[in-house]
Amino acid sequence: MAMKVAINGFGTIGKRVADAVAAQADMEIVGVTKTGPSFGCELAVRRGFPLYYTSDDAGRVAAFSEGGYECAGGLSELLAAADVVVDCSPGKMGAENLTKYRKAGVKAVFQGGEPHALTGLSYSSSANHDANLGADATRVVSCNTTGLSRTLVPLWETCRSLAVECTMIRRAADPGDLGKGPINAIKPVLNVPSHHGPDLMTVKPEIRINSLAVAVPTTIMHVHAITADQPAGHGLTTESIIEIWRRQPRVIVMKGAENRLTSTAEVMEMARDIGRKWGDLHEIFVWEDGVSLQGDRLYYFQAIHQESDVIPENIDAIRALMGTESDWRASVARTDAAISAYYNL
Ligand code: NAD
Repeated sequence: MAMKVAINGFGTIGKRVADAVAAQADMEIVGVTKTGPSFGCELAVRRGFPLYYTSDDAGRVAAFSEGGYECAGGLSELLAAADVVVDCSPGKMGAENLTKYRKAGVKAVFQGGEPHALTGLSYSSSANHDANLGADATRVVSCNTTGLSRTLVPLWETCRSLAVECTMIRRAADPGDLGKGPINAIKPVLNVPSHHGPDLMTVKPEIRINSLAVAVPTTIMHVHAITADQPAGHGLTTESIIEIWRRQPRVIVMKGAENRLTSTAEVMEMARDIGRKWGDLHEIFVWEDGVSLQGDRLYYFQAIHQESDVIPENIDAIRALMGTESDWRASVARTDAAISAYYNL
């Protein structure tokens, strides 16, 4: 029987997770929540996802029909129909929501805007699927941390020791965000080190890592500039490291100069050509000509589509909590094949 999945918060991440869930043969969407009858409800209606209100206020539920949308009820009613909820509310609402999920006896997947301490457990498919098997609640790490995990975990598995420094060059806002910036400045995060690198240690504590972060006026991607120190006698070469990433799911390695993919603008244009909805790029993009191992120190750049790299991880996290697939590679293969079939790719 298909796992019944609720989506609480149908915004940037929520609408994407809902589509990815609907693409899976072993999962079904039992409903998605909105805070009111806004244009975002239209997408849920078109996809045939039952609409619920984010809380239980009867007056607010009724307001949906006044706005022309059928609302199936409040959050409690949605939770009663679900096995697992994916919380895609704006960050820092997790504590209040977790209480509701526990009361309803529903498992929960949170997003990276929540602190690790909320659940005491975080998730990244290649890093710690096993540790999440059968758990009641977890947190899929942020888009940046997911990117770090995709390329650093396979490297750590090869050499068993890594000391990493990275600078996160972050997009200022998502394309649909109003009121975030900067629009004409480069803004350093004056909390040093930034939380991004150390957050990787919530899923892979063996990797020693620190980070700095700056926000820049772009909406389409983050870029990471990374140095990773390998242990002496590692036996790796630039080429063998590239080969490791070529074999890693959800990582794309391409030559920037040769393929005319020298910037995030061109990488996102390629993503739009791939044909996923919203022009999404689930994979982490590594510039092959930006990779260089010099002695024990590896240098590389990677780009992250912040709105979509965590989407397939949410699907794997659901399987981990529900205990239906213990092998992370099998889950990843299944998730990605179903998403590809859904988009006719
Ligand atoms: P968003 O603002 O685009 O969407 C949040 C949605 O939740 C909105 O539709 C909002 O109306 C709704 N909402 C408001 N109050 C709610 C409540 N009480 N209960 C349920 N829903 C409520 O935000 P987002 O970008 O989708 O971010 C969601 C989470 O995902 C955050 O934790 C964020 O940090 C994380 N995340 C975001 C990105 C990104 O780049 N956008 C990437 C990775 C992780």
